[in-house]
Amino acid sequence: MTGPPGSDPDLTELVDVVLAALADGRRRRGGPLPAGGPGRVRADVRDALGASLDRAMVIPAIGDGPAVALARLTGALAAGSADPADPRCAAHLHCPPLAVAVAADLAVSALNPSLDSWDQAPAATTIETEVIAALARLVGFDPALAAGTITTGGTESNLMGLLLARDAARRPTIRVFRSAAAHLSVDRAAAVLGLDDPPVLAVPTDERDRMRVDLLRRALAEHAGPAVVVATAGTTDAGAVDPLPEIAAAVEEHRLRLCGQARAHLPNGAGPAGHPAAFGWLHVDAAYGGGVLFSKRLDGLLAGIAQADSVALDLHKLGWQPIPAGVFLTPRPDGWPSLRAPDAEYLRSDDDEAAGFTSLLDRSLRTTRRADSFPIAVTLRALGRDGLGARVDACHELARHAERTIRAEPRLELAHPVTLTTVVFRYRPPAPTGPGGGRESERHRESASPAALDTLNAGIRRALLVDGRAVVGRTRVGPDRAIHLKLTLLNPEATPADVDALIGLVLATGDRLSAGDAPAGRASR
Ligand SMILES: *Cc1c(COP(=O)(O)O)cnc(C)c1O
Repeated sequence: MTGPPGSDPDLTELVDVVLAALADGRRRRGGPLPAGGPGRVRADVRDALGASLDRAMVIPAIGDGPAVALARLTGALAAGSADPADPRCAAHLHCPPLAVAVAADLAVSALNPSLDSWDQAPAATTIETEVIAALARLVGFDPALAAGTITTGGTESNLMGLLLARDAARRPTIRVFRSAAAHLSVDRAAAVLGLDDPPVLAVPTDERDRMRVDLLRRALAEHAGPAVVVATAGTTDAGAVDPLPEIAAAVEEHRLRLCGQARAHLPNGAGPAGHPAAFGWLHVDAAYGGGVLFSKRLDGLLAGIAQADSVALDLHKLGWQPIPAGVFLTPRPDGWPSLRAPDAEYLRSDDDEAAGFTSLLDRSLRTTRRADSFPIAVTLRALGRDGLGARVDACHELARHAERTIRAEPRLELAHPVTLTTVVFRYRPPAPTGPGGGRESERHRESASPAALDTLNAGIRRALLVDGRAVVGRTRVGPDRAIHLKLTLLNPEATPADVDALIGLVLATGDRLSAGDAPAGRASR
């Protein structure tokens, strides 16, 4: 089947090879992730690459041919994957992609449009423009004014938000405010953009992981310069939504305070003091929570998001897209000076633009850029808002079910009430029963110390990973930063019984470890 260089076998044949190898790899895995731990996976994958014999074999002198290479490596990838389509894979904001979106993604790879110039992406340019306008409308922005871009994810979208805020402020003294539960990418973006001097201010959170607006107000009042406030709509670890309307009001107060001061310094106190966005910018990181905008039942959780100056959404989380499907939106079409590339004549020119040959080059940090809006467009048309909303609701219901199961189980402790689709909890061994003083109660007392509870919960998660039986997440909670487990439920096909089975695995593993047994091998799934 291998022809001369440059001739590819028929894509249909190779797609059949991929689908067969995916099924075979999944069968060999037999569960949500490969059993045996990292050493075993590394060995299997190096075998498939030829690297176990000789590292140089990853680039062999003579190739195996497309079908052989594709079958072998796809099988290894599938066998060695953590599969978000398995209901026992529930650690991260890592969703099972919709088949329709995966199929659409194949079309993008086959055609390979690049969005940095019209002549590389005639149709894809319009698809991205329309998808951005539709999502802007969903957020509550005026779609005729709003602008945005498809990004690689929340990380790039947060960088874009801080970049536009810095450009609007036109001075380097802008300070970043975010909650203690904000995503790590906010501080990284601040560091990349040089917005970490003065340092990013971490506003403490309440007992439900939400930004304390009273403390934000106080911090803003003590800051005499422009501010960018990053609110989180769906914290990565707890799914908490910061109080957006109150935060928007605090940003507005800051703007008015600074606008007033600026005006007072102008001659006669007159004249324009600059756009309010120059003094205060609200970026809402809705990378996780943005998906609830599809749900008529839950979209009220994001009330206030339309007051943002910029928004990050991630449709590779609550949107069931293949990675990457990040979205950056702003109601301000004008504030992108850092991305203007006037001399990129080979990609865009004013006369071409005037003639309607739009280039999206100035909308992105990237140059060559995949048409990741295409699977999104196909999904929106295929499922509609109702279809996506129903999937959001289903995941939320699963989380509510898990919450009830955990509350009813004395060996489990719930950390926060459920907001979105995340449930944070930990295992706690049962209190000693019977007349005290025996070896049993001695061990229980030991295992209930904070350090022992941390070790036990971390051990439960790792034992499940090594067995390949379940992928549950891990985080720290509260002032003592106690290790907890979490279920991030993003699989709308999972059932309440699946969730109970997953919790049952945690319980059984916790019972076994707290009884001091050596971890058992995987006898059965
Ligand atoms: C996932 C997440 C991010 C990062 O998004 P990526 O798509 O991983 O780049 C940012 N913020 C929040 C709240 C997230 O949950």
